[in-house]
Amino acid sequence: MPDTAESGDLSELPLEALVACHECDLLMLKPALALGEQARCPRCGYELYTHRHQVVKRSLALVLAALLLYIPANFLPIIRLNLLGQSTEDTLWSGVLALYNSGMQSVAAVVFLCSMAIPLLKLLCQLFVLLSIRWQFGRSYGLLLYRLYHHMRDWGMLEVYLMGILVAIVKLVDIADLSVGVGLVCFVALILVQVWLEVTMSPHQIWEALAGEDEHASA
Ligand SMILES: [Zn+2]
Repeated sequence: MPDTAESGDLSELPLEALVACHECDLLMLKPALALGEQARCPRCGYELYTHRHQVVKRSLALVLAALLLYIPANFLPIIRLNLLGQSTEDTLWSGVLALYNSGMQSVAAVVFLCSMAIPLLKLLCQLFVLLSIRWQFGRSYGLLLYRLYHHMRDWGMLEVYLMGILVAIVKLVDIADLSVGVGLVCFVALILVQVWLEVTMSPHQIWEALAGEDEHASA
Protein backbone atom coordinates (compact mmCIF):
# COMPACT_ATOMS: atom_id res chain seq x y z
CA MET A 1 0.00 0.00 0.00
CA PRO A 2 2.32 2.81 -1.15
CA ASP A 3 1.59 6.28 0.15
CA THR A 4 1.82 8.95 -2.50
CA ALA A 5 4.81 11.20 -2.11
CA GLU A 6 4.27 14.90 -1.71
CA SER A 7 6.43 16.83 -4.11
CA GLY A 8 8.01 20.24 -3.59
CA ASP A 9 7.09 21.83 -6.90
CA LEU A 10 4.26 20.28 -8.86
CA SER A 11 3.61 23.21 -11.20
CA GLU A 12 6.08 21.98 -13.84
CA LEU A 13 4.45 18.56 -14.19
CA PRO A 14 1.74 17.68 -16.75
CA LEU A 15 -1.78 17.38 -15.31
CA GLU A 16 -1.94 13.64 -16.08
CA ALA A 17 0.92 13.05 -13.63
CA LEU A 18 -0.97 14.63 -10.74
CA VAL A 19 -3.85 13.56 -8.56
CA ALA A 20 -5.89 15.64 -6.09
CA CYS A 21 -7.38 14.16 -2.93
CA HIS A 22 -11.17 14.10 -3.15
CA GLU A 23 -11.52 14.89 0.58
CA CYS A 24 -8.80 17.41 1.47
CA ASP A 25 -7.68 18.69 -1.99
CA LEU A 26 -4.02 17.80 -1.44
CA LEU A 27 -2.22 17.72 -4.79
CA MET A 28 0.13 14.80 -5.27
CA LEU A 29 2.21 12.92 -7.79
CA LYS A 30 0.17 10.05 -9.23
CA PRO A 31 1.74 6.78 -8.08
CA ALA A 32 2.05 3.82 -10.44
CA LEU A 33 0.14 0.97 -8.84
CA ALA A 34 0.53 -2.75 -9.38
CA LEU A 35 -2.59 -4.94 -9.50
CA GLY A 36 -4.20 -5.26 -6.09
CA GLU A 37 -2.46 -2.18 -4.62
CA GLN A 38 -4.22 0.93 -3.38
CA ALA A 39 -3.05 4.52 -2.90
CA ARG A 40 -4.09 6.62 0.10
CA CYS A 41 -3.80 10.34 0.74
CA PRO A 42 -0.86 10.91 3.13
CA ARG A 43 -2.69 13.78 4.83
CA CYS A 44 -6.23 12.48 5.50
CA GLY A 45 -5.98 8.76 4.66
CA TYR A 46 -8.70 8.84 1.95
CA GLU A 47 -8.41 6.03 -0.60
CA LEU A 48 -7.34 7.82 -3.81
CA TYR A 49 -7.71 4.76 -5.95
CA THR A 50 -7.23 1.03 -6.09
CA HIS A 51 -5.95 -1.05 -8.94
CA ARG A 52 -8.22 -4.09 -8.90
CA HIS A 53 -8.01 -7.36 -10.79
CA GLN A 54 -10.42 -7.97 -13.69
CA VAL A 55 -12.56 -4.93 -12.94
CA VAL A 56 -14.63 -5.12 -16.12
CA LYS A 57 -15.45 -8.84 -15.95
CA ARG A 58 -16.38 -8.74 -12.26
CA SER A 59 -18.42 -5.54 -12.68
CA LEU A 60 -20.25 -7.00 -15.69
CA ALA A 61 -21.24 -10.06 -13.66
CA LEU A 62 -22.57 -7.80 -10.88
CA VAL A 63 -24.47 -5.49 -13.28
CA LEU A 64 -26.17 -8.51 -14.89
CA ALA A 65 -27.03 -9.93 -11.45
CA ALA A 66 -28.51 -6.54 -10.45
CA LEU A 67 -30.55 -6.32 -13.66
CA LEU A 68 -31.90 -9.84 -13.08
CA LEU A 69 -32.90 -8.89 -9.52
CA TYR A 70 -34.46 -5.61 -10.63
CA ILE A 71 -37.62 -7.16 -12.12
CA PRO A 72 -38.65 -9.39 -9.17
CA ALA A 73 -37.66 -6.62 -6.71
CA ASN A 74 -40.10 -4.22 -8.37
CA PHE A 75 -42.92 -6.49 -9.46
CA LEU A 76 -43.11 -9.31 -6.89
CA PRO A 77 -44.92 -8.75 -3.56
CA ILE A 78 -42.85 -6.99 -0.90
CA ILE A 79 -45.32 -7.54 1.92
CA ARG A 80 -48.49 -9.55 2.36
CA LEU A 81 -50.99 -8.02 4.71
CA ASN A 82 -53.83 -9.91 6.37
CA LEU A 83 -56.24 -7.58 8.16
CA LEU A 84 -59.75 -8.58 9.32
CA GLY A 85 -59.88 -11.46 6.89
CA GLN A 86 -58.83 -9.35 3.94
CA SER A 87 -55.53 -10.12 2.34
CA THR A 88 -53.50 -7.77 0.13
CA GLU A 89 -50.15 -8.04 -1.57
CA ASP A 90 -48.10 -4.96 -2.30
CA THR A 91 -45.29 -4.49 -4.77
CA LEU A 92 -43.14 -1.41 -5.40
CA TRP A 93 -45.03 -0.80 -8.63
CA SER A 94 -48.47 -1.17 -7.01
CA GLY A 95 -47.32 1.32 -4.34
CA VAL A 96 -46.53 3.88 -7.05
CA LEU A 97 -49.91 3.26 -8.70
CA ALA A 98 -51.74 3.56 -5.36
CA LEU A 99 -50.07 6.92 -4.68
CA TYR A 100 -51.00 8.12 -8.16
CA ASN A 101 -54.62 7.00 -7.86
CA SER A 102 -55.06 8.58 -4.43
CA GLY A 103 -54.34 12.03 -5.85
CA MET A 104 -50.66 12.28 -4.88
CA GLN A 105 -49.34 12.40 -8.43
CA SER A 106 -46.20 14.39 -7.61
CA VAL A 107 -45.22 12.03 -4.76
CA ALA A 108 -45.89 9.07 -7.07
CA ALA A 109 -43.61 10.64 -9.70
CA VAL A 110 -40.77 11.18 -7.18
CA VAL A 111 -41.08 7.61 -5.84
CA PHE A 112 -41.18 6.23 -9.39
CA LEU A 113 -38.09 8.22 -10.43
CA CYS A 114 -35.98 7.58 -7.33
CA SER A 115 -36.87 3.95 -6.69
CA MET A 116 -37.52 2.55 -10.17
CA ALA A 117 -36.49 4.68 -13.15
CA ILE A 118 -33.14 6.10 -12.02
CA PRO A 119 -31.79 2.85 -10.49
CA LEU A 120 -32.61 1.10 -13.79
CA LEU A 121 -31.02 3.86 -15.89
CA LYS A 122 -27.91 3.73 -13.68
CA LEU A 123 -27.58 -0.01 -14.24
CA LEU A 124 -28.10 0.35 -18.00
CA CYS A 125 -25.45 3.11 -18.15
CA GLN A 126 -23.02 0.89 -16.24
CA LEU A 127 -23.82 -2.03 -18.55
CA PHE A 128 -23.17 0.03 -21.68
CA VAL A 129 -19.94 1.52 -20.25
CA LEU A 130 -18.60 -1.93 -19.34
CA LEU A 131 -19.59 -3.46 -22.69
CA SER A 132 -18.01 -0.56 -24.58
CA ILE A 133 -14.73 -1.22 -22.73
CA ARG A 134 -14.96 -5.00 -23.12
CA TRP A 135 -15.78 -4.98 -26.83
CA GLN A 136 -13.94 -1.74 -27.65
CA PHE A 137 -16.78 0.10 -29.31
CA GLY A 138 -18.49 3.45 -28.78
CA ARG A 139 -16.03 4.72 -26.16
CA SER A 140 -17.17 8.32 -26.67
CA TYR A 141 -20.76 7.28 -25.82
CA GLY A 142 -19.31 5.28 -22.93
CA LEU A 143 -17.62 8.44 -21.57
CA LEU A 144 -20.87 10.38 -21.94
CA LEU A 145 -22.93 7.70 -20.19
CA TYR A 146 -20.38 7.30 -17.39
CA ARG A 147 -20.60 11.06 -16.74
CA LEU A 148 -24.39 10.76 -16.75
CA TYR A 149 -24.13 7.85 -14.32
CA HIS A 150 -22.16 10.01 -11.86
CA HIS A 151 -24.87 12.69 -12.03
CA MET A 152 -27.61 10.12 -11.40
CA ARG A 153 -25.89 8.51 -8.41
CA ASP A 154 -27.34 11.12 -6.06
CA TRP A 155 -30.89 10.47 -7.27
CA GLY A 156 -31.26 6.71 -6.96
CA MET A 157 -32.51 6.23 -3.41
CA LEU A 158 -33.22 2.54 -2.98
CA GLU A 159 -31.83 2.62 0.58
CA VAL A 160 -34.31 5.32 1.59
CA TYR A 161 -37.13 3.25 0.14
CA LEU A 162 -35.94 0.19 2.07
CA MET A 163 -35.99 2.22 5.31
CA GLY A 164 -39.58 3.25 4.50
CA ILE A 165 -40.59 -0.38 4.00
CA LEU A 166 -38.93 -1.45 7.25
CA VAL A 167 -40.62 1.35 9.22
CA ALA A 168 -44.00 0.33 7.73
CA ILE A 169 -43.39 -3.32 8.65
CA VAL A 170 -42.47 -2.44 12.25
CA LYS A 171 -45.55 -0.21 12.61
CA LEU A 172 -47.97 -2.70 11.02
CA VAL A 173 -46.73 -5.87 12.63
CA ASP A 174 -48.83 -5.35 15.79
CA ILE A 175 -52.13 -4.55 14.08
CA ALA A 176 -52.12 -6.93 11.14
CA ASP A 177 -50.94 -10.36 10.14
CA LEU A 178 -47.90 -9.50 8.08
CA SER A 179 -45.52 -11.62 6.05
CA VAL A 180 -42.52 -10.68 3.98
CA GLY A 181 -42.68 -11.44 0.25
CA VAL A 182 -40.09 -12.63 -2.26
CA GLY A 183 -39.95 -9.07 -3.63
CA LEU A 184 -38.39 -7.76 -0.42
CA VAL A 185 -35.72 -10.47 -0.46
CA CYS A 186 -34.87 -9.52 -4.09
CA PHE A 187 -34.95 -5.83 -3.17
CA VAL A 188 -32.44 -6.28 -0.34
CA ALA A 189 -30.28 -8.47 -2.61
CA LEU A 190 -30.44 -5.77 -5.30
CA ILE A 191 -29.19 -3.11 -2.85
CA LEU A 192 -26.35 -5.38 -1.66
CA VAL A 193 -25.29 -6.21 -5.24
CA GLN A 194 -25.29 -2.49 -6.10
CA VAL A 195 -23.09 -1.66 -3.08
CA TRP A 196 -20.72 -4.47 -4.10
CA LEU A 197 -20.73 -3.09 -7.65
CA GLU A 198 -19.86 0.43 -6.41
CA VAL A 199 -16.85 -1.03 -4.58
CA THR A 200 -15.75 -3.26 -7.49
CA MET A 201 -16.18 -0.81 -10.36
CA SER A 202 -13.16 1.35 -9.46
CA PRO A 203 -13.91 4.73 -11.16
CA HIS A 204 -10.24 5.49 -11.78
CA GLN A 205 -9.78 2.28 -13.79
CA ILE A 206 -13.05 2.78 -15.69
CA TRP A 207 -12.17 6.38 -16.66
CA GLU A 208 -8.73 5.30 -17.83
CA ALA A 209 -10.12 2.33 -19.76
CA LEU A 210 -12.69 4.60 -21.45
CA ALA A 211 -9.91 7.02 -22.35
CA GLY A 212 -8.07 4.04 -23.86
CA GLU A 213 -5.06 4.25 -21.52
CA ASP A 214 -5.49 1.12 -19.46
CA GLU A 215 -5.17 -2.37 -20.86
CA HIS A 216 -5.36 -4.05 -17.43
CA ALA A 217 -8.99 -3.15 -16.83
CA SER A 218 -10.29 -5.15 -19.77
CA ALA A 219 -8.08 -8.13 -18.99
ZN1 LIG B 1 -6.64 13.91 1.59
